Amino acid sequence: MRDPLLAIDDLEVVYDGAVQALRGVSLRVDADSVVAVLGSNGAGKTTLLRAVSRSLGAVGGTISAGSVRFDGHDLARRDASWAVRAGLVQVPEGRRIFRDLTVEENLRAGGTTVRDARTRKSAFERVYELFPILAERRQQRGGLLSGGQQQMLAMGRALMTAPKLLLLDEPSLGLAPQLVEQIGDLIGQIHAQGTSVLLIEQNAAMGLRVSDRAYVLEVGRITAEGTSTELAATDDIRDRYLGVG
Ligand code: ATP
Repeated sequence: MRDPLLAIDDLEVVYDGAVQALRGVSLRVDADSVVAVLGSNGAGKTTLLRAVSRSLGAVGGTISAGSVRFDGHDLARRDASWAVRAGLVQVPEGRRIFRDLTVEENLRAGGTTVRDARTRKSAFERVYELFPILAERRQQRGGLLSGGQQQMLAMGRALMTAPKLLLLDEPSLGLAPQLVEQIGDLIGQIHAQGTSVLLIEQNAAMGLRVSDRAYVLEVGRITAEGTSTELAATDDIRDRYLGVG
């Protein structure tokens, strides 16, 4: 069997040496798959993503036990630029884009680690094919885009390095239902282009629709996991996360 692309084992995270946000979390993302992590406010979803993207330190968090391995490598022994080169890229929550730069300049900023001009050109082509609206608006400043378009730009920027694994933090946050659908479809297309996705989502319906497997996080622990079809058919998940009884 192939090693998983991402393997998180018995992970514990503590903030400010006191608040335990994750307790014994284990999770896998296989190559060529979309995995969703569902859970309500404060469950620990963002913390989990921070542990993978190594941004815990900046907010007072530390991994107190367990491990995060990407493509067989222990991330604790690697630096941030290694992760990007190895194909691990995050789209931040809150769609942080450069508001004063054009769409094209934003995308170029995402591809600075891509040295070869031809590879960079094909990255632009791939992103513009995925998000035709970004091609139309390539000369417009990022700050003038709508919320949904800014989300697409943030995703497009992360895809400029053709990552193996894309980390997505609540891409549906604050978007109208129709746009949520569209973002969901785009995740399917990103997967079809060969990028695996770890999707953190409060919108369980969307998360389960676009993923192969899913995990439910509650107060820092995984309380359910399985194929997304299985989970969507579970009474407890239907009652508590999908709003159908
Ligand atoms: P949300 O959807 O609201 O972001 P979440 O599932 O992503 O929720 P986290 O943000 O990971 O949850 O929070 C998990 C727990 O860790 C919560 O109890 C939260 O208060 C705490 N926490 C998160 N960030 C910090 C921090 N920087 N310092 C201290 N405690 C924190």
